[in-house]
Amino acid sequence: MHNNSSNGQRVGTSAAAAGDAIVIVGAGIIGLDVALVLAERGLGPYITVIAEHLPGDTAATYTSPWAGCNFSGISGNDKNALKWDRLGYTHLTKLASEQGDEAYIRRTHSVEYWDEHVPHEKIKAISEYLEDFRELPSHELPPGVKFGISFTTLTLNAPKHIEYLFRRLKEQYGVHFVRHRFPTIQAAYASPTTKVVVNCTGIAAKTLPGVEDEKCYPTRGQVVLVKAPRVKRNIMRHGRDYETYVIPRPGTDGHVILGGYMQKGSSDGSTYSYETESIVNRCLKLCPELQQFDIIASFAGLRPSREGGARIEREEIVIDGKKKVLVHNYGAGGTGYQAGYGMALEAVSQVDDVLRDLERASRRARL
Ligand SMILES: Cc1cc2nc3c(=O)[nH]c(=O)nc-3n(C[C@H](O)[C@H](O)[C@H](O)COP(=O)(O)OP(=O)(O)OC[C@H]3O[C@@H](n4cnc5c(N)ncnc54)[C@H](O)[C@@H]3O)c2cc1C
Repeated sequence: MHNNSSNGQRVGTSAAAAGDAIVIVGAGIIGLDVALVLAERGLGPYITVIAEHLPGDTAATYTSPWAGCNFSGISGNDKNALKWDRLGYTHLTKLASEQGDEAYIRRTHSVEYWDEHVPHEKIKAISEYLEDFRELPSHELPPGVKFGISFTTLTLNAPKHIEYLFRRLKEQYGVHFVRHRFPTIQAAYASPTTKVVVNCTGIAAKTLPGVEDEKCYPTRGQVVLVKAPRVKRNIMRHGRDYETYVIPRPGTDGHVILGGYMQKGSSDGSTYSYETESIVNRCLKLCPELQQFDIIASFAGLRPSREGGARIEREEIVIDGKKKVLVHNYGAGGTGYQAGYGMALEAVSQVDDVLRDLERASRRARL
């Protein structure tokens, strides 16, 4: 398959053929987290990540570089979201401790406010694992806020974090990357040695032939990158029809992301000065340390949302008369970084049988 790709960066020699056994379509945080989970299991040399966009690129249809980015209480209240968040928090906390600087992740104090009541089960679930969790007493809440918490969160420099994963997967684990855009999901099985394809195509899952999931929709967000070295903490306010947040960026010279918007159904990748103005005004009210700042740039990104939450599901498909395995892992919405590792563990667990066969073959080859 790779020989035929006009803009592919790797070729499929017989020595490299085993590298096609697992094909991950998509190199956003979701595809990279799947590659990491598999690589940590010793399967790095069997993985090829194939994507139209790779870390370092920017495009309206490539969401991951635009994220804020932190762990927050923004997720849904369903069991899956709560489970993936918990696994993600544990993973990111460990990464922050062991390789925080290289991975562009930092432990950061965070305060979150809600203008409406938050379901009790959700708060109970996150209070069990968030470090330094505290429910704020009413006298600490700003006017109009019904509920607030503080805890130690993880903040990430999103574009740098995916570049770190890209480097680490290649250099430490021998994962191959190819730049290529598939016309259909079935096209990802072009190599006869491919046993399993993991579909991590983000918002493209709505339109990609062979997937065409009608439940998917984009949720647009605009953010503003500023220089404000006095800001050292996260602060977020979840309103009825707005979302305001201030997130310092690790590994920068005092850069901070200000947000934001949650515009369901909008696939507009443009930025607007009136939105920048609204974001800045809302953040100034929320965060007194923001008094002195310089605006660097505004960005817009499209969260890959899905009615009912992310889809992690195994499907058996027939390609050229042969049964093949496809695992879907898309629809992370606004939580791809915080939940991505947990989602990856679940996606990988769905193909455990195929992976065990590969592991056996690998052991035999080494004998
Ligand atoms: C403004 C904003 C703020 C956010 N803040 C946070 C935050 O604070 N915390 C958090 O956890 N999340 C946050 N998110 C959400 C997070 O960014 C997303 O959940 C995540 O990036 C989704 O990743 P993904 O890998 O599914 O999609 P993408 O990053 O879009 O990756 C999709 C990949 O699939 C490839 N692809 C698609 N179609 C094809 C094809 N046909 N052939 C080959 N390749 C294909 C693309 O090229 C790309 O490599 C934020 C998002 C936005 C927009």
